[in-house]
Amino acid sequence: MKHLNLFLNILLLCIGRVSSFLHAVPTTQIRHSLKFSHHFISLQIDFNYQLSMTSSAIGFVGIGIMGEGMAARLLEGNIAGTDDKPLIIWNRTKAKAEEFATKYSAYKVIVKDTAKEVVQNCDVTYSMLSTPEASQQVFYDAEGGVLAGITAGKSIVDCATLAEEDMTKMNEAVLAKGGHFLEAPVSGSKVPAAQGQLIFLCAGSKTLFDSVVDNGLNVMGKASHFFSDTVGFGTRAKLVVNSLMGTMVAAFSEGIALAENVGLDASTMIQVISQGAIASPVYALKGPKMIAHDHAPNFPLKHAHKDMKLASDMAKNAGVEYSVMDTAEALFAKARDDTELNVADLDFSAVFECVHKESTGEYSQKRRKTE
Ligand code: NAP
Repeated sequence: MKHLNLFLNILLLCIGRVSSFLHAVPTTQIRHSLKFSHHFISLQIDFNYQLSMTSSAIGFVGIGIMGEGMAARLLEGNIAGTDDKPLIIWNRTKAKAEEFATKYSAYKVIVKDTAKEVVQNCDVTYSMLSTPEASQQVFYDAEGGVLAGITAGKSIVDCATLAEEDMTKMNEAVLAKGGHFLEAPVSGSKVPAAQGQLIFLCAGSKTLFDSVVDNGLNVMGKASHFFSDTVGFGTRAKLVVNSLMGTMVAAFSEGIALAENVGLDASTMIQVISQGAIASPVYALKGPKMIAHDHAPNFPLKHAHKDMKLASDMAKNAGVEYSVMDTAEALFAKARDDTELNVADLDFSAVFECVHKESTGEYSQKRRKTE
């Protein structure tokens, strides 16, 4: 009798867990494995399930430099923005979210007061916040945060560049509440975001990746890579890319400043560089703006430095020699912290101004004086 009771208890527990699980998860057919333990007994259940979506609204948290363009692509790409598929958004500075809704008034865009409300009203919510600190504030805020809105079946796609452990912890917290998490940092900047030309670097729930790749990622980006079902690999890929980019722009800044100081025409040198094997779109794009002192922010220097510091830490943890990048990172740190230069919020191309400031060459000195 004792054994029969125990058996019935386990059976009821399993039926309860399976039914709430079936209720919760999104539409894709997936094979899943659950482990339940009851006292000394552990059962493993393997089954196929299909989920029902409770809402077709799409959420977006963080209408910043990148988020604005990405959210707009979701509208223009017919992923969201109709009465039955509204785009539901939140931004810390509410006026920016309201401006966005006004600008795209041809579409159905709903502005919420909290990130929690966005998540509560959408099955899938994208998040694009600036820094690990900003992300933590918005994610863990007990009153109005992302996590507070998570219930079973909710999905979060986090596109920010954060530390690997930030992504890992968010993934664990979302999974613990029965949700799904995809880490999806992007390669690209303000203009690629607005044009749907980003490159997504993903890891985490493959099921979620499969459900959003043709239903969101592909209108915001030109390529989407899935690295692993272990969260962290997307961030690793992103930090490799951005640390290389920062190093390239720091080296390019020094090369152009040297050219100017030895009497060469900077525009001609940018042309020469663009014609050879070291040509790069980033040089072609940033070069003319750098010599014209135009550093309107597409990718703020403070964020570029954040990524290089994260990459430097990653390289140390991995035991990899990264001294060239570390030197570039130090230059970016100097530029960011220079209150006289005041370039932290400008584009990362403004590291060029720091190179000139640090140079004693006649051209650099004159350039500084005539600014
Ligand atoms: P951003 O415009 O500076 O900020 C993004 C969002 O973060 C804004 O909506 C901002 O809200 C919000 N935010 C900042 N601090 C906050 C806080 N304490 N609490 C709540 N919200 C806060 O950044 P971004 O350039 O779009 O970049 C977003 C992410 O993408 C970053 O992780 C960045 O490294 C990465 N990324 C950027 C680029 C690029 O070229 N810009 C390219 C690839 C990846 P407010 O409007 O209220 O300030």
